[in-house]
Amino acid sequence: MPVLSPGGQDICQTPEDWRRGPVETIAIRTGSRVEAVDITGQVQDVVSKSGAKSGVAVVCTAHTTAGVTINENADPDVMADVLDTLGRLVPKSGGYAHVEGNSDAHVKSTLVGHSVTVPVEEGRLQFGTWQGIYFCEFDGPRQRRLMVQILSAG
Ligand code: ZN
Repeated sequence: MPVLSPGGQDICQTPEDWRRGPVETIAIRTGSRVEAVDITGQVQDVVSKSGAKSGVAVVCTAHTTAGVTINENADPDVMADVLDTLGRLVPKSGGYAHVEGNSDAHVKSTLVGHSVTVPVEEGRLQFGTWQGIYFCEFDGPRQRRLMVQILSAG
């Protein structure tokens, strides 16, 4: 059943109007055990190459000891505070059952989440003034991989 606007127009496009782009990969080499890497430019590059004008970008990390989040990209102290606070909340050692020694990283990954979804309009990721996308490393340094898929309606 179509969703109608107050004026009676069908405001939902049919699924055929949407295109699902391929899953693209962004590779990152992190440099320390815990860090936040601004990947906004790399995600925008994927959007630009896709040719999508309007839709959404889905950004996921492929790892269980890392996360993806959106936060302030003007003052680097903000992400430093986020990482410091996560470190206080989830200490490196603390009687964890997992024997690999990186349980804190797994817990932080779950707290931060593994993906973000960002609207795309006129071929550009849509953010508030101070927002950027961060890959959050919790068990580096490592070679890391992000997946980006664009769902576009124009
Ligand atoms: Zn582990």
